[in-house]
Amino acid sequence: MNIIVTGGAGFIGSHLCDKLLSLGHHVICVDNLGSGTYENIRHLDKNKRFTFIRHNVIDPLKLIEGRIHQIYHLASRASPVDYQEYPVETALANSVGTDRMIKLALSKNATILFASTSEAYGEPKVHPQKEGYWGNVNPVGVRSCYDESKRFGEALMMAYHRQYDVDIKIVRIFNTYGPRMRKDDGRVIPNFITQCMKDDPITIYGDGKQTRSFCYVVDLIEGLIKMMDSKEFGPKNLGNPNEMTIIEVADLIKEMTHSDSKLIFKSLPLDDPTKRQPDISEAREFLDWHPKVEFRDGLKKTIEWFRKNGI
Ligand code: UDP
Repeated sequence: MNIIVTGGAGFIGSHLCDKLLSLGHHVICVDNLGSGTYENIRHLDKNKRFTFIRHNVIDPLKLIEGRIHQIYHLASRASPVDYQEYPVETALANSVGTDRMIKLALSKNATILFASTSEAYGEPKVHPQKEGYWGNVNPVGVRSCYDESKRFGEALMMAYHRQYDVDIKIVRIFNTYGPRMRKDDGRVIPNFITQCMKDDPITIYGDGKQTRSFCYVVDLIEGLIKMMDSKEFGPKNLGNPNEMTIIEVADLIKEMTHSDSKLIFKSLPLDDPTKRQPDISEAREFLDWHPKVEFRDGLKKTIEWFRKNGI
């Protein structure tokens, strides 16, 4: 198949390009290299089935010739530090950018998958979060450029589906980690790994009792592809239900890197959710998917990758 991956030079997108190519598909990667990097896809340079188009999904995309079968629309900054620095671009990538990609899907009769987020649940009052929960989001908060644009992206997908019968898929991606995360992207796993490797203080925001549930990127990619190839339109949660406090994450990374780093406590960023855990019973039942990689095993691979790539 001919498959477009927007955000294909990003952390998750580049792993998805690799996997789709290994399955024999042709991949067109669309990325403006805002938060993604060319390094993530340099190894695909010579692959004849891989095309890279440097482009911001907010802008009109020039005509893409020929048949397109599938579009994975992943393009958006996803790190809170990052998207709060570029709130307008983030809000537009998930709204205007999504509109452009759905129109492309419509014109090509392609299936489109939209990468939404666990942030759609905001500060959740239901735990763990099921797809039927409508969420508790601050519409004007510092995270709203991301949360609300992802929610709007979901609504737009449903609107096109209802009005024009576009073949859509919506997934809500929970915290994901692995090789190719940017070491300076501000998220918890790259921060803690780089701090531990340099024996710098580990920055715990708030009291560190807030929870997250971390999914290894290889598991997530399998879930994305299963969703795309299914009859479901979603939304479907994709993530690993293995919930931990941030202090537990810090202690584990410290142990695994044999670090002498001390924990230091900093103020909690605004609207930082206190808990987050996916209920993945729908993905289990309808996609026959569940994550398989243990946190320790995934962390080991991630730490090795950070070591090799110059921390
Ligand atoms: N966090 C932290 N120290 C850091 C980076 C993040 O304590 O150096 C916390 C952050 O406040 C949040 C959690 O770790 O509660 C996950 O943050 P991340 O930015 O990775 O993603 P989020 O799940 O908030 O989108």
